[in-house]
Formats: sequence, structure tokens, C-alpha cells
Amino acid sequence: MKLLSVIVPCYNEEETVADFYAELIKNKPFFEEKELDYEIIYIDDGSKDGTVAEIKKLHERDERVHMVSFSRNFGKEAAMYAGFEQAKGEYVVTMDVDLQDPPSLLPEMFSHIEAGYDSVATRRVSRKGEPPIRSFFARLFYRLMHKISKTEIVDGARDYRLMTRQMVDAILSVKEYNRFTKGIYGWVGFRTKWLEFENVERKKGETKWSFWKLFAYSLEGIMAFSTAPLAFASIMGILFCALAFVMIIVIIVKTLAFGDPTSGWPSMICILCLISGVQLFCMGIIGQYLAKAYMEVKERPIYICKEKI
Ligand code: UDP
Ligand code: MG
Repeated sequence: MKLLSVIVPCYNEEETVADFYAELIKNKPFFEEKELDYEIIYIDDGSKDGTVAEIKKLHERDERVHMVSFSRNFGKEAAMYAGFEQAKGEYVVTMDVDLQDPPSLLPEMFSHIEAGYDSVATRRVSRKGEPPIRSFFARLFYRLMHKISKTEIVDGARDYRLMTRQMVDAILSVKEYNRFTKGIYGWVGFRTKWLEFENVERKKGETKWSFWKLFAYSLEGIMAFSTAPLAFASIMGILFCALAFVMIIVIIVKTLAFGDPTSGWPSMICILCLISGVQLFCMGIIGQYLAKAYMEVKERPIYICKEKI
């Protein structure tokens, strides 16, 4: 029998933990048919509600339910990493606990693994039920990423993915602290089959991602998988040097031809402000990369485990 590990990050999800289990168990006939054993690894990402108690209740009913509980909220990326570390299965799947990643898709996903793919990923083709402004910025992010990064990051890609052991080991070998798993999947390579599905709205509870949290996460993605912003800083520098050079020539010619004394300090102040603004902006970009490098150099653990069952 081969083992399938199901990794489920949870943060304040007491309402959905049991529903998820019930929904996943509906796949039992499929597991039996394929001679698959399963383990469910709930990662409690420092929840403040009754999530841990709910998971423990499930563990009493079914010893295939495991849990890693964090000492505080480390974020979904850290939760997925912890899951990958704990998973013992030949196959590993990550999914959200809120049932936005339908467990009923598993048999189809598995059939592609059997057909020889190393990983089966999912993307949603619609963003129904999502605030329009959020969808707009999400699309913008993916378009930008496509342009500035060599690593493929697919629009609408979810973290719902079935992988072989080989791919999981590859992901685990990427030990960076600032994790952007969607990029890491692309970076490690392997043959990936994409399945598409319509967006499913969250059954219970509410989203843990505010607009600003998502925004910060997208910056994380850009910085983790592209150095284009740094190049942008250099290009701005070159452009402004060229502009200054042209202006010097214009002023010299003007003075020689018309004997016109240089006038207009207001325009000078404007230019000064503009250029110092650009300078600070570019320094900020460099500072951001430096800050990320600083965090990496510290080599702090990605998460701290408080309890494990
Ligand atoms: N999640 C987590 N840690 C966090 C935020 C979210 O483990 O800091 C989990 C959450 O419990 C859920 C999944 O990540 O299982 C996706 O979160 P959510 O449904 O809130 O995001 P959305 O689907 O709205 O993007
Ligand atoms: Mg969700």
C-alpha cells in the first residue's frame, strides 16, 4: 500500500476542520480502489480559537489524523513547509481547509500522476465572489511576474497540488526563509499537469488574507523570484544622467548664443525634488533586498512547533 499525505494549513478554522475531514473521507472508495493509505496532517498556524481542540477530537476518532501546532502565527507558507517536513507519504497533496480546494478532484488528479506526471496543480479560471479590486491587483501581479521573472508563476494558481515524493524532497531542499511556494514549485521544475476549476466560495468562516497582507505577499513573491526592481534602479540612474547631460548642453548653448543668464529657481527646486524622490525610491528598493538578505543570513527557523500529535 502506498501512503498519501494530505497537508492542511489552518489558522482560526474551528468551524471548518471537521467539515474538511468529512469531505475528504468521501474519497474512501477511491483510496481503497487504488490501494492508497492516507494521513491527514493539520498544521495549526497559531490559531487563537478552538482549532487545536477540533483537530484533537478528530485524532481520537481517526488515528490517521495528525497535527503540528505552531507557537504563534507564522503564515501559510511556513505551515506548508512544516507539512512537507512531516509528510511520510509517497504522494503529498496540499489543500485549504475551507473546502475552496474541492477534495472531490483528488481521483482525477491522481490519474494524471499515474499517467507519469510528477505533479498535478490546479488553477481557478474564474474569481467569482471575490472583490473586483482584489481580482484586478491579482491579475496585475501575475502579468508583472510573467514579465520580470524567469520562474513560471501561473495566474489563478492555487496551492492545491498533488506531488510525488521526489518533488516534495526537492521543495524541502529549498530552505529559504522568505518563502513563496508558488514560485518554488515552478523553480524546482518537474512535469506538471494543470487542472482548471471554477472558483468555489468559502463554506464557513472568513478569509485570513486582508488586501494589505496579500499586497505584502505579492512583494515577497516579486523579490523572491526576480531582481528586476534592482535593474530598474540602475536604469533610472542612467536615464537621469542622460537627461542631465542634455540639459547641460542646452544651457551652455543657450548662454553662448543668447548671453541669457540662467534663471528660474522654481524649476530647479522641482527637478531637485523629483530627483531626490527617485533616489530615495531606488534606495528603498535596494534596502528591501538587503532586508530580505539580512533575514536569510540570520537563518532563523521557518516555524516553531509547540505541540505535535
Ligand atoms: N492560513 C494559514 N495561516 C495564515 C493564513 C491562512 O494557515 O496566516 C490557511 C487558512 O486556514 C486556509 C488557507 O491558509 O486553510 C487559505 O486561507 P484563506 O481561505 O483565508 O485564504 P483565501 O482562500 O481567502 O485566499
Ligand atoms: Mg480560502
